[in-house]
Amino acid sequence: FALRHIHCIISIELSESKPQMNTDKKHDSNIQAKINGTTREFKEGISILEAARNLGIEVPTLCHDERLKPCGACRMCLVEVKGSAQLVASCMNKLKDGMEIETHSAKTEKSRKMDLRMLARKYPREEFLKYAEKPFHQLAREYGLNENDFGAEANSKITDDSHAYIKVDMTRCIDCFACVRICEELQGQFVWQIGSRGQNTRIIWDRGATFAESSCVSCGACADVCPTGALEDRSVLENGFPEKWTKTVCPYCGTGCEMEVGVRGDKVVQIKPAMDSPVNHGHLCVKGRYAHNFVDAADRITQPMIRRNGKWGEVSWAEAIDFAAGEMKRIGEKYGNEAIAVLGSARATNEENYVTQKFVRVCLETNNVDCCARVCHTPTAAAMKMMLGTGAATNSFADIEITKAILICGANPTENHPIAGARIKQAVLKGANLIIIDPRKTELTKYADVHLQLRPGTNILLFNALANVIVEEELYDKDFVETRVAEFEEFKTFVAKYSPEDVAEKCGVAAELIRKAARLYATAKPAMSFHGLGMTEHLQGTEGVMTVVNLALLTGNLGKRGAGVNPLRGQNNVQGSAQMGCDPGVLTGGIALDDGREHFENVWGVPVPKSKGYNQLQMMDAAFSGKLKAMWIVGYDVYLTNANAHKTAASFENLELVIVQDLFLNETAKKYGTVFFPVASSFEKDGTFMNAERRVSLLRKTVSPRGNSLSDWEIVCEMARAVGKGEHFDFHSSEDIWNEIRKVWTNAGGITYKRLEDHGLQWNCPDEDHPGTEVLHTESFTKDVRAALRRIDYRPTKEVVSAEFPFLLTTGRTLYHFNAGTMTERTPNILLRPTDLLEISSSDAAEIGVTNSETVLIKSRYGEAKMPVQINDRVQKGELFCTFHSPEIFLNHITSPYRDRFVLAPEFKVTAVKIEKPAKTV
Ligand code: SF4
Repeated sequence: FALRHIHCIISIELSESKPQMNTDKKHDSNIQAKINGTTREFKEGISILEAARNLGIEVPTLCHDERLKPCGACRMCLVEVKGSAQLVASCMNKLKDGMEIETHSAKTEKSRKMDLRMLARKYPREEFLKYAEKPFHQLAREYGLNENDFGAEANSKITDDSHAYIKVDMTRCIDCFACVRICEELQGQFVWQIGSRGQNTRIIWDRGATFAESSCVSCGACADVCPTGALEDRSVLENGFPEKWTKTVCPYCGTGCEMEVGVRGDKVVQIKPAMDSPVNHGHLCVKGRYAHNFVDAADRITQPMIRRNGKWGEVSWAEAIDFAAGEMKRIGEKYGNEAIAVLGSARATNEENYVTQKFVRVCLETNNVDCCARVCHTPTAAAMKMMLGTGAATNSFADIEITKAILICGANPTENHPIAGARIKQAVLKGANLIIIDPRKTELTKYADVHLQLRPGTNILLFNALANVIVEEELYDKDFVETRVAEFEEFKTFVAKYSPEDVAEKCGVAAELIRKAARLYATAKPAMSFHGLGMTEHLQGTEGVMTVVNLALLTGNLGKRGAGVNPLRGQNNVQGSAQMGCDPGVLTGGIALDDGREHFENVWGVPVPKSKGYNQLQMMDAAFSGKLKAMWIVGYDVYLTNANAHKTAASFENLELVIVQDLFLNETAKKYGTVFFPVASSFEKDGTFMNAERRVSLLRKTVSPRGNSLSDWEIVCEMARAVGKGEHFDFHSSEDIWNEIRKVWTNAGGITYKRLEDHGLQWNCPDEDHPGTEVLHTESFTKDVRAALRRIDYRPTKEVVSAEFPFLLTTGRTLYHFNAGTMTERTPNILLRPTDLLEISSSDAAEIGVTNSETVLIKSRYGEAKMPVQINDRVQKGELFCTFHSPEIFLNHITSPYRDRFVLAPEFKVTAVKIEKPAKTV
């Protein structure tokens, strides 16, 4: 009989099977069982399959996967249990005290061989012969099957070649349902479904004539789990299977997923998730899993270049370094070193950022160093540092599975941090409450208990109103407030003026919904919050984050598992680049300049400069006013990504030297670069990254650096030697640098490369016996037992709609592209999302007469951009949303000059605009 018919039969539970063996003495909660003649103790609750595998017995499976609930569809794991007439599925049945089991008896082996034969009969011979590596083919061979057992021809009617990354060939499907289960249980997407039943059972995608039209988000989990190749990565079909695997970290977002990179020759051909990673639990998103082709993109620059008389020309490293160092020296002598600034990179490793800021402080003797955290989460770091003493996430991703309520504010995790998003979705499907605060409907709003769809720019009003309900209805945690919170009475008086009824109209959210959200967050214990750039990229970004911390303090959601305030950091190492000291006021470890000066001077053996230093926005202002003359920009496309691009352009025009260090000639380099240093990508070097939950993870070299590219740290050290300070940069490896970092940053002293070999460590970790810190502030905040509530009044932005500019535009990322698109736009992700899109509500679209995909002109008070329209009701009437990845569209020509009041992060999230139809060209 066919496999599909036995799916239910094997789900028999063995509750009635009678133990046959006498038991000897055993420990509490342990049981004894005999497997293939060996009697052992096992933990109670273990499955028969796990118990056998614990003894090193390889019971074959095709449908079993550690990431999934057992299903027993493939029958390969059937074993004999003494006392049971039928063979039983070892994956589905728990081991019981006294059981006697045979995993490879004549009866089981015969059964397996028979089942394999039946599957083979309907399976294409050609594919069996072609792909020896697939688990089904290997097992068939092990059981003595050969090509003559395989009877079917490939059937083009059930193949599909439409998807950018996954090829579908359902002639190879053995109905193990692994794809259906993983899509549901890991990704929560429900793309693969069982179409019809019985003999006609077929796995189908959810919608559309082709697989490319389905709702697939291209995480690749289905291809990963498929034992036959019915769903297969196109990359291995085109390039062959990997010859070696290396574990490393994803080069994209701040989730920091661990992955296994498969290499053939010197080319990355496949990426799979690290199965045992505490961050991603055997899962990756479309970027981490598939978007790696940028490594060998045709336009990658792999030789240093200098632009002379307007023309780029390739030069040797020696010439490029001599020229850049000479120019720096010239500018320093003419204008002083304060006229030179350097930007570290969220794409570079911790070690590379460390040497970058050290170069600025030791070689240039200034504090003119910053990084792109300035334009994303510096408001978070500042707010959390001011209130709690440490400017980083308080908790861990592992807490998602134990929390009772999740508050997501100004973040879209299923697109921007997809693995964290998938974990959140699974937690909600299993019963956690979900509150979303966002002007736009995101995928997760479908699953939310409450969605507060506020007007952009009204965060402070709304969060004060949430606090008002918690205080007025006495939902706050009285013990926690009494022991760990300061200035409660003052806050109580302050927040009284922000009742939900007072703010409802301005926020555009009904008072009752605000009350509902506050009650849910305050009464679920524990509750955790995640926030993104929708909180930080505002005039009151820093203060917005403070209002989030206020809620956690009031409800006692700090210092415990399943709680906390957790910024979703954007780029893979943005947490690390700032933490390493790429910030004018902060030294490595997040230590304020004056607090750390003495210690750093002892380790470095040179004075730490006292000047205030420019941050990235101040660098632009100083260039605009003629004070700054040179910039060295590591892995960062400032011109494309800074708000208000016309002003950025005018600033760059004034510079005499722009050194760009990157993989590609980015927009900054193309337009303003003087020197280009080509770098090794994250697949081509060692080092460490730091994710959003403070985890330091090991990055490992998987392929050789392309052409003459060098690691960022090697370039910085060469520059240090060229300016005569080489003795402070005598490093020979990333590990050498890390060991110096451990000396200056005592809270990371216990993090050694050796200890990172498994899954990284979360700081604080002061010594080598310390296990790392999953939850901050358990007994006390960093500087004090108590943290004070902050009384933040609402200050509306000047960026408001008018008769001329009637729409409010917010911006964000899409699942398929990453920031400036420098990497993802050079991969087949461009097929999945070819351009930035302007989202507009159907009523607004009808009023101004635009249709789907029509290209429109968006104009703000500062500039204009053209892009195609996508009509949907994710945005409210009067509001627009668009992504900002594509240099062709260059959205920052229209964003505003307003900045956060504390740390100057630009107000990317609110721009008043109008829409026009572009004039027709004749
Ligand atoms: Fe990479 Fe982020 Fe996707 Fe994980 S969630 S695979 S870190 S892009």
